[in-house]
Amino acid sequence: MKLLYEGKAKKIYNSDQSDQVIIEFKDDATAFNGLKKDSLDGKGKINLKFTRYFFDLLHSHGIKSHVVSFLDETTLKAKKVDIFQIELVVRNYAAGSICKRLGFEKGIKFSPPMVELFLKDDSLGDPLLCKSHLKYMNLIAEEDLLFIEKQALKINDILIECLDSKGITLVDYKLEFGKAQDGEILLADEISPDNCRFWVKGTMESLDKDVYREDKGDLVQSYGRLLEILGI
Ligand code: UDP
Repeated sequence: MKLLYEGKAKKIYNSDQSDQVIIEFKDDATAFNGLKKDSLDGKGKINLKFTRYFFDLLHSHGIKSHVVSFLDETTLKAKKVDIFQIELVVRNYAAGSICKRLGFEKGIKFSPPMVELFLKDDSLGDPLLCKSHLKYMNLIAEEDLLFIEKQALKINDILIECLDSKGITLVDYKLEFGKAQDGEILLADEISPDNCRFWVKGTMESLDKDVYREDKGDLVQSYGRLLEILGI
């Protein structure tokens, strides 16, 4: 397999079909735009398990993703997509950057959920995008943006229903979408505690990457606990 791209948490290889790629989940953990970095044994496997669980759940509700099949403990086969250079963050409760940027008190509920867009560009530190910025940047067509925002809110309803019944609060999460060669817009990347905030219901106890960002404990242990709670 030829390595096409290596990111902070994944490696992308070509596959035997020109319209598909193999994605390997790495054990690397990073935070603060790569300033904090570690290799944590078993993290890749665990995040693939979460991604499989959530993507299967979303597929069963009609949300299409780039996943073609899950191959082994750390790899999946996906349709090749052109990823929109936009990260979509959905927030049900205030935490993280929204508290630092705008002074919201941690734990405040956003109803309806807040949707934010960030430019996917590490060299610029993934800045927040206003809708008016988009008029001057050739990042996404207006109708495609409307579609992914709607998908993100549908995904929110599906995830909340599942997580709430298991005693987990979905605080916020980041999604990425891409366009396949046939023009279809697909959910891409992953859904795991690396790109979501999950709190034990009724508390602000994190079972997500904040454990690592804020040195609150052992990431692999916390992710393992969430696997157990969700029955994965
Ligand atoms: N997030 C992510 N990748 C990023 C930035 C954010 O997966 O590059 C996720 C993050 O894990 C959280 C949500 O998006 O679940 C909102 O993150 P926030 O804007 O609060 O930034 P952070 O606190 O992670 O700096």
